[in-house]
Amino acid sequence: MLEVTGLTCGYGDIIAVDGLSFTVGAGEIFGLIGPNGAGKTTTLRMIATMLKPSSGSISVAGYDTRLEPQKVRENIGFMTGQTALYDRLTPTEMVRYMGQLHGMDEASIRQRREEIFELLGISDFADRRIGRLSSGMKQKTSIARTIIHDSDVMVFDEPTEGLDVMTSRAIVDLIRSCRDDGKTVIFSTHRMGEVKLLCDDIAIIHDGRLFYCGSRTEFEAQMTHDSYEDEFIHLVGAA
Ligand code: ATP
Repeated sequence: MLEVTGLTCGYGDIIAVDGLSFTVGAGEIFGLIGPNGAGKTTTLRMIATMLKPSSGSISVAGYDTRLEPQKVRENIGFMTGQTALYDRLTPTEMVRYMGQLHGMDEASIRQRREEIFELLGISDFADRRIGRLSSGMKQKTSIARTIIHDSDVMVFDEPTEGLDVMTSRAIVDLIRSCRDDGKTVIFSTHRMGEVKLLCDDIAIIHDGRLFYCGSRTEFEAQMTHDSYEDEFIHLVGAA
């Protein structure tokens, strides 16, 4: 459902992503981890067609991001910290607007919105203007707008960044339910607890290169430290 081959991208002289290849199947969660500046966001932005690779290819739900970007956008939900929300709209209006852009009818939008708002605890502030919400409330709204059209492929860039433990847990549960629904999920995080809780496969990138890629079970089998965090520090330190 998601196939990345020889992906490379630079900003001027900086090579942000250098020859990445991996695949994520339906019903799988793929965790992208790496230190600051490793190239995670750049990779996810290319998958979501927001950035063009300088070489390599990406297939999302069978569509090539270069050849059929519109089809890719129809089949993907992308959430990033920089996702724009309109301050003057309420979460209800924002999510409805995104549903309409994806061609959903009003009844489907309402039904799916109610499910998501319940799951993420948005109902209490659903009719307050986004400009007056806290950052965590905005983050939840951002996730709701990403998943309203129930796409087959979900991309989350640091979805729990800056959130309290209850909200983070709600988002972890939601990502897990995406897997249960057979979605293809890729997400980046700095939180090793989430990697352990969620990922089927793990990729560590460092300086734009794939440093480790394998199943969570394989990762655990080769660990020489007690915790994911210590193992990550050891691996990246060695690199
Ligand atoms: P973080 O964990 O800090 O969010 P990241 O792994 O997501 O980091 P990227 O944001 O993909 O890393 O950045 C990869 C490299 O590309 C870094 O060297 C960064 O400075 C550079 N970079 C990212 N965005 C731009 C940009 N708009 N213009 C120039 N360089 C950029």
